[in-house]
Amino acid sequence: MIGDFISLIFPEVCIHCKTTLFKGEKQICTNCTSDLPKSVGSNVGFNLLNKFILFPKVTEAHSYLAFSKKGIVQSLLHQLKYEANQDIGIMIGRWFGADLKEAGFKTELILPVPLHISRLRTRGYNQSDLFSEGLSESLGIPWTNQLVKRTKKTLTQTKKGRIERWENVEKIFSVMDHSTINDKDVTIVDDVITTGATLNSCVQAVSDSGARSISVLTIAVANPK
Ligand SMILES: [Zn+2]
Repeated sequence: MIGDFISLIFPEVCIHCKTTLFKGEKQICTNCTSDLPKSVGSNVGFNLLNKFILFPKVTEAHSYLAFSKKGIVQSLLHQLKYEANQDIGIMIGRWFGADLKEAGFKTELILPVPLHISRLRTRGYNQSDLFSEGLSESLGIPWTNQLVKRTKKTLTQTKKGRIERWENVEKIFSVMDHSTINDKDVTIVDDVITTGATLNSCVQAVSDSGARSISVLTIAVANPK
């Protein structure tokens, strides 16, 4: 009853179009949900495999949504990263997880790409942990943020050429316990993929610690092809 009373005074609005939400709608209205930039005719989203050609162990790589400036995905990511709206991350993970499950996606362990400790302290949470949590619920597969650690902050990449940029993110991750990953089909999870440099660095660490195969899942891709 108190919840109903509060929502009468401060009605919840859609995080993107700001219309008042109906009962049963959460965070994002039905219209915006049906407008989500998903890959047409595919339950596994946008194929990212061409960003991981250096690592033959990467057998699947998919992004749920396509990012565009001022679009719904930008609103979702802004809420998730800068407005402490943690439920958004879990919700998107559940949605994508349900689609992937229907498509027959298989994995044994979900590993979010960790934030650097200083970033984690400022934000208070890792958005990729939340996405992992939602995926884990829908897929019925465990996730952990205790295995992969970030040892370095990524240096600024804006003024560097493509090759330098890749060198720049080399060895910024390490795997704490190889035996847990060894011979397993694992999934690495991140919020957004742009060049793929950070994810490739994480893939390298996980690949070196003996994973049998690696899948990569992200919420959004900046330039879907
Ligand atoms: Zn809306």
